[in-house]
Amino acid sequence: MVPRLKASLGLHEAMALLPTWDAVDASVARFEREFSAMFGGGEGISFSYGRTALWAFFRSVGLEHAEVIVPAYTCVVVAHAVVLSGNVPRFVDVREPDYNMDLDALERAITPETGAVIATHLFGYPLDCDRLEDIVSNAEARFGRKIWIVHDCAHAFGAHWRGELVCQRRDVALFGLGISKLITSIFGGLILTRDGRNAARLRAWREANCQPGGTVKGWQRRAYLAGIGVAFSALAYPGVRWLETHTPLLDSYTKAYHLDEEIHFPPDYREGLTAAEARVGRAQLARYGRIVQARLAHASFYDRALHGAPGVTRPPMAEGATYSHYTVRVESAARVCARAERRHVQLGRVLDYAIPARPDYRRFAGSQEFPRARAFAATTVNLPVHADLTTEQRDLVVPTLLQAVNP
Ligand SMILES: *Cc1c(COP(=O)(O)O)cnc(C)c1O
Repeated sequence: MVPRLKASLGLHEAMALLPTWDAVDASVARFEREFSAMFGGGEGISFSYGRTALWAFFRSVGLEHAEVIVPAYTCVVVAHAVVLSGNVPRFVDVREPDYNMDLDALERAITPETGAVIATHLFGYPLDCDRLEDIVSNAEARFGRKIWIVHDCAHAFGAHWRGELVCQRRDVALFGLGISKLITSIFGGLILTRDGRNAARLRAWREANCQPGGTVKGWQRRAYLAGIGVAFSALAYPGVRWLETHTPLLDSYTKAYHLDEEIHFPPDYREGLTAAEARVGRAQLARYGRIVQARLAHASFYDRALHGAPGVTRPPMAEGATYSHYTVRVESAARVCARAERRHVQLGRVLDYAIPARPDYRRFAGSQEFPRARAFAATTVNLPVHADLTTEQRDLVVPTLLQAVNP
């Protein structure tokens, strides 16, 4: 069985789970320092989840009752954070070929009510940061108000736009550190900012409104990561996958993401990173370079191997992209994934919805249509690009995909 995603975990992560006397605050602060140093400087402020970090950022700057522009095709937890912070998501359609927000549509969507723009660098593709900043600065001048830019770097940790890290552009960058991200702190999320005032406000807000990760949560998180480590081992994975699809036994793992169609956060969203998570995060930072290199190598392999393949639209090979996902388009993603799974290759549908088409968000969509987001939801398939993917496994992916597309 070729798994569609897999965290790269090893001895250092296992050691990070051992009990220590380190204080939570010190472990978390050390992770935040090492994280920000790795991604270009500034200050990192961590939270229980990426979605909490975004919610807390809006709260800390007092943004409320504003329109926040969100791409129609991104992870729904981003929209949850907008709604739960007391703001209103306003969706903008995405574009071919790189799945990112259509900046012409963004320009038309900004109004005097706009308080922030979520600039998602989806699947690791850098959005055009120069054009984005021009659009936002013009709107700020026209409407006489601050419009925050939040770079959603959950898929794009070290992505570059014209040689510059996108996470270092104005105003803040958001990272998700869950198990499916480029690197993980088990769960967790972080805001990175170069602006000391933003950092100070957010820290003060966290101090007043969140708790440090507790001991019980620490042990739950250790058990979770140990479980993931065992589940994804080559021996266990086929059985685990069977249990996942045929029984409810693993629901507490697979449904832990809280993507049911309701706008809410997990119950522990105000309880910060635990010391074990911070230590796992530090161990993962040391692997970042190799993880991204492996993803780039897998992506260029697929790019060559799928050249001219009938029925498969390849994504671009873009300068500065990190390939958190290598996402092709086919006629029916559901059919292709089901056929490939029967041949023991898991292909992913990481985003199989357009947010405004979900029942919980229809009321925010109005009469607007989001044709590309809807099309991507039905047609995108992401191929395995994780760092532990072997060349033997990778060699199986392409013929399996082609067979599934043209049976
Ligand atoms: C994962 C993710 C986030 C943050 O998710 P959390 O699960 O809350 O940590 C934000 N944006 C995108 C695009 C993501 O994929």
